[in-house]
Amino acid sequence: SQILQIKKLSVNVEEKEILHGIDLQIGKGETHVLMGPNGAGKSTLGYALMGNPRYEITGGEIWFQGKRIEEESADQRARAGMFLSFQNPLEVPGLSLNGFIRSALSAGQGGKLRFREYRKELARAMELLQLDGTFGERELNVGFSGGEKKKSEILQMLMLKPVLAILDETDSGLDVDAVRTVSQGVEAFQKDRKGSLLIITHSTRILESLHVDYTHVMVDGRIVTTGDGALVEQINREGFEPFMNPEAVER
Ligand code: ADP
Ligand code: MG
Ligand code: MG
Repeated sequence: SQILQIKKLSVNVEEKEILHGIDLQIGKGETHVLMGPNGAGKSTLGYALMGNPRYEITGGEIWFQGKRIEEESADQRARAGMFLSFQNPLEVPGLSLNGFIRSALSAGQGGKLRFREYRKELARAMELLQLDGTFGERELNVGFSGGEKKKSEILQMLMLKPVLAILDETDSGLDVDAVRTVSQGVEAFQKDRKGSLLIITHSTRILESLHVDYTHVMVDGRIVTTGDGALVEQINREGFEPFMNPEAVER
């Protein structure tokens, strides 16, 4: 069954059309990768899906679990099970990472967890992400290193168990070890086979140990090619150049 259906979606940012008629479908438990050069509109799609009010939907439809959601707020979409890991997550002084996860859970994101199970799952996820026990008591993203910010996002994802997680450039700016750790966190989410993933990236490092069902290439606000996991390897070898020549693009 389809978790997400995007039909002919057009999006404006500050009066300028950035996405021009995007079609994309994501099934339950599937992992989709969205690649493309800088400025293609990948993050714009993530923000539009999540309901960021700066991204104005000017045409098309977004269906999430059988329901149209273009009019829903970001908060409603999060409670319905959508999760977006930002390229640059906000610092939230006064709110601990643990406090944030607990309040998201009690606001109806994710399943209900008893306290003891919660502590157990949290400890397991933190170990997997190589975060030490005190990390959860630190103020959310305040003074976090690049790697800690990304690990904190993955920790949130593992605890909230979204229906659809959108990870935007989760590997950018990370060293080799941190990429591997983050990738293990994503793998653990995949193993559950419940949530779907849309991984937005312009590098292929985070994908090396992950199973990929579909790869989409976005250029200039359009999806120009869709393939399977092997497309990632082609992009690794040849870059985006072959997709940027209009004659090579399938329409
Ligand atoms: P990508 O994530 O593929 O690198 P983006 O979605 O960030 O691409 O950007 C696509 C285009 O939209 C770029 O030309 C960018 O300048 C523009 N854009 C994106 N977000 C904003 C914004 N908040 N304000 C102004 N322009 C934006
Ligand atoms: Mg960018
Ligand atoms: Mg981006």
